[in-house]
Amino acid sequence: MKIYGCKNRLSDADRAGVLSEGHDSGRRNFLKQILLTGAAWGAFAHLPRGKGIFAAEEKMVDCKENPGKIERTEAEWQEMLTPEEYHILREKGTEQAFSGKYADYKKEGVYNCAGCDLPLFSSGTKYDSGSGWPSFWEPICPNHVKTRPDRSLFSARTEVLCRRCESHLGHLFEDGPQPTGLRYCMNSAALKFEKESDSESKR
Ligand SMILES: [Zn+2]
Repeated sequence: MKIYGCKNRLSDADRAGVLSEGHDSGRRNFLKQILLTGAAWGAFAHLPRGKGIFAAEEKMVDCKENPGKIERTEAEWQEMLTPEEYHILREKGTEQAFSGKYADYKKEGVYNCAGCDLPLFSSGTKYDSGSGWPSFWEPICPNHVKTRPDRSLFSARTEVLCRRCESHLGHLFEDGPQPTGLRYCMNSAALKFEKESDSESKR
């Protein structure tokens, strides 16, 4: 089975920080990457190896240190998105459990942001959480998503957003499987699946 991965994977310290601070971890990752530069192969020895992520057949996604910003007016968002996508991505909506097209989707490939096409998650880290929403234990590139505290609905949760277009994707919980223990609980409408044969042409 092909697993899609990323050379800039989250460290254990970054993972701990994601939930405890609800922050934007780009700066720390940037510093970490400087340390890794020039010692790429040695650096892999420090990185997690769950589920054959670094198998020989692995295909790498081009993880951007800074994916930049895409800003659109509300009118532009409404023009390009369906009403459901707009509600979820731009108004922090949540689709009904088991209603989304990717909840039980098992094809191999990459899930991009529905708002800007930035690669966000790999089928290699997707798992059946039983929640009714597509669930992943790690983003494909640490700098392609960001998190922030969400205190709506009378609970303290961690919101997950696309780092490039700031669209709402879903929430992050700490009840995921190893090796991270994290559950990125996403809305299908916030994602666009790209199968393997399509993925080279766009990067
Ligand atoms: Zn985006």
